[in-house]
Amino acid sequence: GGSASASSIKQVKLERESELRIEVGNESPLKLRLLNGSAEIFGSELAPETWLTFPPRVKFAVFTWYGATMEMDGATETDYTADETPMVSYVNVHAVLEGRRNRAKASSPNDSEAYQGPRVIVVGPTDSGKSTLSRMLLSWAAKQGWKPTFVDLDIGQGSITVPGCIAATPIELPIDPVEGIPLEMPLVYFYGHTTPSNNVDLYKTLVNELAQMLETQFSRNAESRAASMVINTMGWIEGIGYELLLHAIDTFKANVVLVLGQEKLFSMLKAVAKSKPNVDVVKLQKSGGVVSRNAKFRQKARGYRIREYFYGLTNDLSPHSNIANFSDLLVYRIGGGPQAPRSALPIGADPVANPLRVTPVNIDRDLLHMVLSVSYAKEPDQILTSNVAGFIYITDIDIQRKKITYLAPSAGELPSKYLIMGTLTWLET
Ligand code: ATP
Repeated sequence: GGSASASSIKQVKLERESELRIEVGNESPLKLRLLNGSAEIFGSELAPETWLTFPPRVKFAVFTWYGATMEMDGATETDYTADETPMVSYVNVHAVLEGRRNRAKASSPNDSEAYQGPRVIVVGPTDSGKSTLSRMLLSWAAKQGWKPTFVDLDIGQGSITVPGCIAATPIELPIDPVEGIPLEMPLVYFYGHTTPSNNVDLYKTLVNELAQMLETQFSRNAESRAASMVINTMGWIEGIGYELLLHAIDTFKANVVLVLGQEKLFSMLKAVAKSKPNVDVVKLQKSGGVVSRNAKFRQKARGYRIREYFYGLTNDLSPHSNIANFSDLLVYRIGGGPQAPRSALPIGADPVANPLRVTPVNIDRDLLHMVLSVSYAKEPDQILTSNVAGFIYITDIDIQRKKITYLAPSAGELPSKYLIMGTLTWLET
């Protein structure tokens, strides 16, 4: 950052209902603490006088309801104070959701409408602050003692795990401002690509699976059913993107649709909801603090996210390099290839690609630098609908000796020999 020379300690006084917006510099981390008053980062309250260390490039805001003094130590790309924020409207949404959670908790299963807590879905174009709003709503709910489920349908970035996945995880505590979503027990489905147009049918299939799984969990657990869920979506809202939004709203039976920063999307969804009396569509203002990220930045962020999976945010994990025989690993891919060779089809028929077909992949140099998922499937025919245990990264393919070298989070045998390949790659730097 340009202000590297000014990396001395600096104090910032925040008036009530204002926020300090920060972009940490590219090179070095930033330390920050609350000196007095009270403040939160995306819904998660700060402990007084405790230094937090933010890694390079992170963008965030420290918001205060009643006033606070902050202290910063380190270089920032930018830092400024803003007193115009949509936070009051966001916290009002939270209050309405709280009411519905309490109603759900107190209801009888016979009242199927009230018995279910609010199923919130956050939609809007890229860089409208969807992930951030989801995070606030989850942290505020967790602070109240609920354990809401976070569902992330955004395959482009991935706040729960690596990009290319859809996932869900219970949020038991306000989300840590530095560490983000805890990675303990997420339910993850591997789509394998970072754009849904690669295989729309697969994306829908996985959304259906995830929704069904959560439905089962909710039917067994009154506490998580009442706390319910917050669903974060992709910024793709045109054409197929819009179709996939409608599909997600239906599949998860969302009953609160929060539309961020787009009038057109709001009115379209509002019109759709006319035929669904139980669905509330609410328009919310985008925060002026949301930072736009271009394609190059997103691409880089995906790489960092994969790196974080293996090495941890601060290099605190030690992944293990393993060597296996080609014959030890069974790699599959979903969709893509033609169903049957042209020669096997009646004359004139086109070899139609079946987007949901699971086919074995020959191990060759094409696998180099791929990120594969490790499926929980026990048989190949379960691969399509199974969730995944984690990921490996292919670092070397030795064709002659038929050996494959890969990075895994730990040493030892993989939880399963069924691996799924998509188009997710990474160049370790
Ligand atoms: P996507 O297009 O990936 O779906 P999004 O709509 O989910 O994006 P966010 O990820 O919530 O957008 O926000 C984009 C960036 O802006 C993030 O780095 C986030 O931390 C940052 N940000 C959000 N709100 C603020 C704020 N009030 N002040 C400073 N930074 C913010």
